[in-house]
Amino acid sequence: MIEARAVTARLIDGKSVARDLENEVRAAIAELGYQPGLVAVRVGNDPASELYVRNKAKKADELGLRGRQLVLDESLSERELLAEVDRLNRDDEVDGILVQLPLPKQIDPRKVIDAIDPAKDVDGFHPINVGLLHMGRAALVPCTPAGCIRLIDSTGVSIDGANAVVIGRSDIVGKPMAALLLQRNASVTICHSRTRDLASLTRNADILVAAVGRPLVVTADMVKPGAVVIDVGMNRVDASFADRLAHDEEKSRLLAKNGSVLLGDVDFARVREVASWITPVPGGVGPMTIAMLMQNTVTAARQRRA
Ligand code: NAP
Repeated sequence: MIEARAVTARLIDGKSVARDLENEVRAAIAELGYQPGLVAVRVGNDPASELYVRNKAKKADELGLRGRQLVLDESLSERELLAEVDRLNRDDEVDGILVQLPLPKQIDPRKVIDAIDPAKDVDGFHPINVGLLHMGRAALVPCTPAGCIRLIDSTGVSIDGANAVVIGRSDIVGKPMAALLLQRNASVTICHSRTRDLASLTRNADILVAAVGRPLVVTADMVKPGAVVIDVGMNRVDASFADRLAHDEEKSRLLAKNGSVLLGDVDFARVREVASWITPVPGGVGPMTIAMLMQNTVTAARQRRA
């Protein structure tokens, strides 16, 4: 039984931590004396991808990188995309390449990821970078989990020796998150949809990272009092979710006003009464991802041009 605590968790302000990181990136670029180049490749017209790629290129310019979007037709063949990637690999002005996922169905994303020069793989998805990360060696690390580590560090809570539980085992978030926590000497448990008795494992977590993609999957009774809770999930729900949100005044108000509302995987209103630190959604993990991408581009430029 989790005892009720009088103290409400402190918020981890992703916008503020991301701003600090962006300032570090600006300073690092000023020191480099050249502008690292980042190319964001988009194939087709998926509206979400359009927004992500535009935001990435814009942020790159804002911080002093040379950001460029490469927009390709929806009907592009796999071979044509691989040829574009090859061209970018050989372009000396390009330090970072990212190919926005998902890709149209005629293109196998694994072949495209495998084709990116690992030295320019700023998303950290190439098998070479994945392997290096799991061996605890320097690598270009996936941006969202790297951002989560930075958020945990911002609390001052030590990762070293902590029990960490990651819910989710995707290649993009869950697995690299677990590897990064392990690299920092946490004892790490990875949970997923086949985990038996999830709550018995999460209740043991000093650091709990939820990367599931299901709203309110982490409830207050699953959280150890005083835990640090990082909510990666981004789930848009509509009015049909209103009853399940009745206890959350702020989200209910937004839902009534806008007809939909963005939720994490964590029941924020109740978990914040149990945890010591918690990320909000939006404004927690989200802002970190693009900032980390910019840092990865600077790292890639430094290493490649050294
Ligand atoms: P994903 O590939 O769908 O992986 C979800 C993981 O959750 C899977 O490993 C799945 O298990 C597990 N899972 C599903 N239902 C579960 C349950 N009931 N109990 C325990 N585990 C369960 O998703 P993803 O790409 O990792 O993304 C996860 C969430 O993070 C999404 O909401 C996504 O939008 C968000 N996200 C946010 C950012 C950001 O910048 N803020 C970046 C990336 C992702 P199995 O492996 O067994 O299927």
